Amino acid sequence: MTAEPDTSATKTGNYFVANYPPFSTWRVEDAHLATERLARPPAAGTPLGLYVHIPFCRKRCDFCYFRVYTDKNSSAIARYLDAVIEEARMQAEHAAIAGRKPDFVYFGGGTPSYLSVKQLRYLFEGIQRHISWDGAREITFECEPGTLQEPKVNALKDMGVTRLSIGVENFDADILERNNRAHRAKEIDRAYGFARAAGFRQVNIDLIAGMMGETDDNWRRCIERTVELAPDSVTIYQMEIPFNTTVARRMKDGEQKVAPVADWATKRRWVGEAFAALERDGYYIGSAYTAARGENATFLYRDGLWHGADMLCLGVASFGHIGGVHYQNVHDFDPYIERVESGAAPIHRALQLTDDQRLIREFILQLKLGRVDTRAFTEKFGVDPLERFAGPLRKHADDGFLSIDGARVELARHGLLQVDRLLHDFFPDEHRKVRYA
Ligand code: SF4
Repeated sequence: MTAEPDTSATKTGNYFVANYPPFSTWRVEDAHLATERLARPPAAGTPLGLYVHIPFCRKRCDFCYFRVYTDKNSSAIARYLDAVIEEARMQAEHAAIAGRKPDFVYFGGGTPSYLSVKQLRYLFEGIQRHISWDGAREITFECEPGTLQEPKVNALKDMGVTRLSIGVENFDADILERNNRAHRAKEIDRAYGFARAAGFRQVNIDLIAGMMGETDDNWRRCIERTVELAPDSVTIYQMEIPFNTTVARRMKDGEQKVAPVADWATKRRWVGEAFAALERDGYYIGSAYTAARGENATFLYRDGLWHGADMLCLGVASFGHIGGVHYQNVHDFDPYIERVESGAAPIHRALQLTDDQRLIREFILQLKLGRVDTRAFTEKFGVDPLERFAGPLRKHADDGFLSIDGARVELARHGLLQVDRLLHDFFPDEHRKVRYA
């Protein structure tokens, strides 16, 4: 039996399930739980990741829901970098972090490549005085094509970045402009050429299916161009319209009556077509959002996050996870800096997960990989997911979205393409209807 196809229009709200429990359940009054957890030694055998948030962008894309700033001058940026380095110093003293080296590092934003070479060297060296990522297996750095000049790309390679992730989003000049994207189409090839010439172990391209103005013809050209460029991996997100985006505001103000992007069925079809083309070219589908090719195409940050690694976060509004406690830093620029400068940890809100919430979290996040070996969960949590999640697994199996073979749960391709929609069925009732952010 197959479920009725979901042909729903794109509406305002979050679609992508980035974490569990939902961020809106993390409490300011529980921020101390993160500090207390940081003060205790780590659980044995838990890998550590480091996330560094760079919140600056040249322009704010109309679909952006991140905490970004387009108006900071060089002295504000310098003060921010000092605060991040100081936060690293403070965190490195905690028992949960002291003496540990991150297995993987992720510079996200915002636009990390907005920083100059001088600022980047200052930041990398400053953090590493306190937390060395010597020996880290993966260092990812997010870039916006228009900010990549050859010396900067070479400096990033020289500083040890292994995985350069280029936010192409779309190859069409008009679509980039219509979505208020900062970079121009012609800057993509140039940036990609610099990245390839520099010899990074892995170059990833980000695309978005369903940007405003997207058409079947243009999307086909985007796929062809991606295949021609032959990156090591391709990440494709389906366009959503979270509440705090420019598009959502226009809809709320009545400037825009209906969402100016394709419906979900069309976006899923576009991602499915891209995956099929990439598979024909030798890529494998590593998750609901990623195609990859070759032994260099790792994504340890994603894998660590989804398998319960500790994640130390640095920077304004960034999200961390230490020993079963979720936390988020202060989410405004000046208050974040002032908190660090006053000598206090900039943790704004936190949530202590129960064992069952940890199980739900890792299970639903790993479903996004397209396959889950439930024996690993039984070993780790002492609970068999096939019993714990018997109801939703049966429902999605009956609907044709997944199959169960022994201890293995496998998503069908059309299930994988809408996996975020399916995950809510694994939540307890109190988390099904809550606002995600
Ligand atoms: S480049 Fe990324 S972080 Fe910056 S405004 Fe656009 S979507 Fe947001």
